[in-house]
Amino acid sequence: MGRILIQNATIFDATGAKPFVGELLIDGNRIAAVTPKGSGDGGASAGADQVIDATGMFCMPGMTEGHAHLSFENVTATENLITPTPEEMVFTAARGAKALIDAGFTSAYGASEAKLRLGVAVRDEVNAGRIPGPRIRAGGLELSVTGAMGDESKEHNPRIGPSTLINGPDAMREAVRMHCREGVDNIKIDVSGDPFYPSTPSTSTPMTFEEVKAAADTAHAYGRKINAHTRSILGSKYCIRAGVDGLFHCEHSDEELLDMMEEAKDRVFVVPTIDLFDALAGGRASPFGITPEIAGYMGIQPLIEESVRTHTELRKRGVRHLIGGDYGFAWSPHGTQANDLAHFMKYYGYSAAEALICATRYGGLAMRDEGDLGTLAAGQLADLILVNGDVLADVSILADPARIAMVMKDGAVHSISPALAARAPALEPAE
Ligand SMILES: [Zn+2]
Repeated sequence: MGRILIQNATIFDATGAKPFVGELLIDGNRIAAVTPKGSGDGGASAGADQVIDATGMFCMPGMTEGHAHLSFENVTATENLITPTPEEMVFTAARGAKALIDAGFTSAYGASEAKLRLGVAVRDEVNAGRIPGPRIRAGGLELSVTGAMGDESKEHNPRIGPSTLINGPDAMREAVRMHCREGVDNIKIDVSGDPFYPSTPSTSTPMTFEEVKAAADTAHAYGRKINAHTRSILGSKYCIRAGVDGLFHCEHSDEELLDMMEEAKDRVFVVPTIDLFDALAGGRASPFGITPEIAGYMGIQPLIEESVRTHTELRKRGVRHLIGGDYGFAWSPHGTQANDLAHFMKYYGYSAAEALICATRYGGLAMRDEGDLGTLAAGQLADLILVNGDVLADVSILADPARIAMVMKDGAVHSISPALAARAPALEPAE
């Protein structure tokens, strides 16, 4: 790997500092130095094995997809998750991983997968260097309760859905332990209802506090993270009280919940996953049968309004949001997750720089308790991207594959554009 020097880039280090033109030295899989131009010794280049002239490029930490479903591809119904075989879906999940890192997402914080060990298998292959992909905290199956999200059986017509159904704290402990045994990093429980399941609307809370607590305690006992699908006020309160690490969706709130979340802001991450509703209400899903009219029957617009109200307030209170979530549908292919940056600005009032911090620094902190991922500073893991253009002036360029000039993960170059490679002789992508 050696020492790689990136020169003359506009560096956005995600620490809160203003961007500056400077250079960045990578030694092995860590950042050795970040130096503003003209600040000093100019000696960093002397020890570099390779030099990249990144004039005109925006250098920022790699992004984290905060609620990844690697095995979702072209999904329009749960049927797409249930019927395909595990063997076929391994390839699907591997494609998802590749699409993410190609797009500058060097980390994927797992939500759930269509089959139990898909995230685990792909994570292990990526870590072994055999297939391309981001750092992965592997998700497993959704853990839900009878009659709630993911239970698609009827008494006369049993059907194995995309969720594992548990009832009671003991069954929950057993299911979480089984997931831990199988190598899952991120346990996911379905605490609240969902607009796709009419028996349990988004305001309902079919899972009990005792079940949530059993899941959280068991996951933590195994050193894993516990995350929750939670849209209802009561469900989100259960999650905070039980010690859940990642709260997904969280549209509904009252003052007490907002206060609880603010109090827990240094230990929780919240992922709004707004793209799905933006797609349904905005007509992007119409070609696949979910028109804005159908979204209207599902109550999507009021959910968006609740999302705007809650997450704008959480932003103001300093609660850490992650971007991404519920991509992999037919209308939101993997690799387009950077669209969330514009969503965060439009719906929740984020500045471009703040939205980028959600995508990078907070994502890195969710991925690794060590705190050594997600910013560009000496000692941090070398996950970064070079983008052709000023991302702060227009965040949408991050969603344009042609603008991603280089992706580096763990100090290794995953991809580099021909134009940039021409300015860095001898530097070739790892894969
Ligand atoms: Zn999801």
